[in-house]
Amino acid sequence: MSKSREKAFDEVLNRIPQVMKDPERRVSEYFGENIFHLDKMRECLTEDAYKVVKSAIEHGTPVDRTHADQIATAMKDWAISKGATHYTHWFQPLTGSTAEKHDSFFKPISAGKAIERFEGDLLVQQEPDASSFPHGGIRNTFEARGYTAWDPTSPAFVIGKTLCIPTVFISYTGEALDYKMPLLKALQAVGDAATDVCQYFDKNVSVVKPTLGWEQEYFLVDSALYNARPDLVLAGRAVFGHEPAKGQQLDDHYFGSIPERATAFMKEFEYESHLLGIPVTTRHNEVAPNQFECAPMFEEVNVANDHNLLLMDVMEKIARKHNFRVLLHEKPFAGINGSGKHNNWSLGTNTGVNLLQPGKNPKSNLQFLTFFVNTIKAIHDNADLLRAAIASASNDHRLGANEAPPAIISVFIGSQLTKMLDDLEKNVKAGKMTPEDKTKLKLDIGKIPEILLDNTDRNRTSPFAFTGNKFEFRAVGSSANCAQAMLVLNTIMANQLIDFKKTVDARIKKGEKKDEAILKELQVLIKESKKIRFEGNGYGDEWVKEAEKRGLSNLKDTPRALDVWSKKESKQLFGKLGILSEREIEARHEIELENYILKLQIEGRVIGDLAKNHIMPAALEYQNVLIKNVQGLISVLGEKEGREAARTQINFIKSISKHVNNLNDKVNLMIDERKKAREMDDTREKAYAYCDNVKSMFDEIRYHADKLEIMVDDEMWPIPKLRELLFTK
Ligand code: ADP
Ligand code: MG
Repeated sequence: MSKSREKAFDEVLNRIPQVMKDPERRVSEYFGENIFHLDKMRECLTEDAYKVVKSAIEHGTPVDRTHADQIATAMKDWAISKGATHYTHWFQPLTGSTAEKHDSFFKPISAGKAIERFEGDLLVQQEPDASSFPHGGIRNTFEARGYTAWDPTSPAFVIGKTLCIPTVFISYTGEALDYKMPLLKALQAVGDAATDVCQYFDKNVSVVKPTLGWEQEYFLVDSALYNARPDLVLAGRAVFGHEPAKGQQLDDHYFGSIPERATAFMKEFEYESHLLGIPVTTRHNEVAPNQFECAPMFEEVNVANDHNLLLMDVMEKIARKHNFRVLLHEKPFAGINGSGKHNNWSLGTNTGVNLLQPGKNPKSNLQFLTFFVNTIKAIHDNADLLRAAIASASNDHRLGANEAPPAIISVFIGSQLTKMLDDLEKNVKAGKMTPEDKTKLKLDIGKIPEILLDNTDRNRTSPFAFTGNKFEFRAVGSSANCAQAMLVLNTIMANQLIDFKKTVDARIKKGEKKDEAILKELQVLIKESKKIRFEGNGYGDEWVKEAEKRGLSNLKDTPRALDVWSKKESKQLFGKLGILSEREIEARHEIELENYILKLQIEGRVIGDLAKNHIMPAALEYQNVLIKNVQGLISVLGEKEGREAARTQINFIKSISKHVNNLNDKVNLMIDERKKAREMDDTREKAYAYCDNVKSMFDEIRYHADKLEIMVDDEMWPIPKLRELLFTK
């Protein structure tokens, strides 16, 4: 076996499981211990300061300087009691991961004297040296400065020895440079719009908050094997590797018993998550070998999203302790399932009602139907924006592949609700409705909770599915920041609800009764949004044809999906609601294209290096062995008989030459295309070039490398094989 592969294997075989000692306390006793939440603030703030911060959290009101000082001091004292020595503003630049810069609490005040200091100004605002974060041109034209500003709605937390304060990241001119800032605006917009619509049904509703419950899928790979695979290290996915003889066809991993080493890892990262108040409750094996999932209880979207980002970070840290590496990439291994991050989404009111949960009587069911139908209409009108929200170089490998949602956005609601909507579409009469009509409709609507109970026909192939009391956006990628999907979903929903309210109000003004006005408007929306509803198999080829007939978009790759951001309708929509300005949208479009380009550039380089420096030398080494063997046979048996005896070896020699030549030619072509693409100035054209001319060659290059893998002596193969990466426990 090649030295590096052998060494990696030795390490794996000698692993001792790193089992954490079970905590002596119950989860309820230590849950949230490392976050500075409202209950803790009540203990250490004055009545006044507590009220100010509570109102900031619940209603987004500002925190004045005096109270900020008091909160900062309390936060610092609490953090120091937890062992913290440093603090950081924790933010979400558009690179995709989170960023932090640690500063010490300690300040020298005179010779030989120091104090621990942390005041309101440091809590509320900071100016990180942020010149290398992506800004899409926003910071070039004005000043290079960027600010982080405290988001009190997400609790500060201590990790290791650092107090982390969730913040937004904005430019000197106030433009968003991060994911959180526009998300907060979108959440506010949809909350306000939903609250207005709720007034038709219940005047006690004064606050609506969108909720998010994510499900995080991931792969675990032993760190020694991982380190012996430059493609996993640099690109997060295996760019080469023949499919193992056994993949996921037996379905024996899904919900099977979790391997011991993986369990030990999960226990520890769940423990750390619970300390941070992340309500992780579920763990199980996923479909592919070495693939797992974890999911928390849902929370308000902003906090849920911070928790997901934090969890990804915690997972990676803890995994290293257990000699694992977590692969969050959407498609680390071709031929088996990729990883997603289902975003379960709904809207919750201050009165404790889930607006996407059918109620107990016709009135609350009409409210349910209102939000349900408006969601479908919002998706219908803005499917391309939703598609853009989940676009990334890594998710491109997954969408439309093995058991992953297609790139076509559609909505699944189940046969019972389909029938309900079809009935409504037919039975709401034009003109004034008779009392009998209304009674019948009320009866129909009253039946919803019953029908939902036996609504078991779940469809796992839909990118956007209704699952009884929430929608599940399944096309989101496992490595993504959910903020992008949530930004778009909540913005388009806000817009839709505002339109709905306007139209229904206008109907009422014209003399229609409230319920009738709502029903008639819902009927219009049901008709208009019909084509986005699809109940069939989203993985099938027929759906691609059917979707095309219906006029639905099928945007297969990121550069094309992102084009929607340059449309004036998109800019108007986000501008009108004050969520993103035209400039911010343009900057984001640019940044996403740049991210895409960089990712493909790295992949292209890794493919070239691995092919030339690892795979070809191994193939040629084996070919030399064969050549020696053929020469030996000829020298012993004579030319004719020797050749006859070496028939197989000679064919192998030829075959290896063929694949090596092809591999080298294709890699060189790809490198040429990469160079051409790199020289391009226009970012959009460049991204298209990387997609159409560079990435398009990856599969063919892989084909030849993978052929060589099954031909070359296993002992000589230089990198761990997929079988080893996936089935080593
Ligand atoms: P699945 O079968 O898809 O795993 P679950 O019922 O286990 O479905 O729920 C999956 C996720 O949905 C969980 O994270 C859960 O917290 C979340 N969820 C449940 N209700 C809501 C809601 N009202 N809003 C947002 N997410 C929710
Ligand atoms: Mg789910």
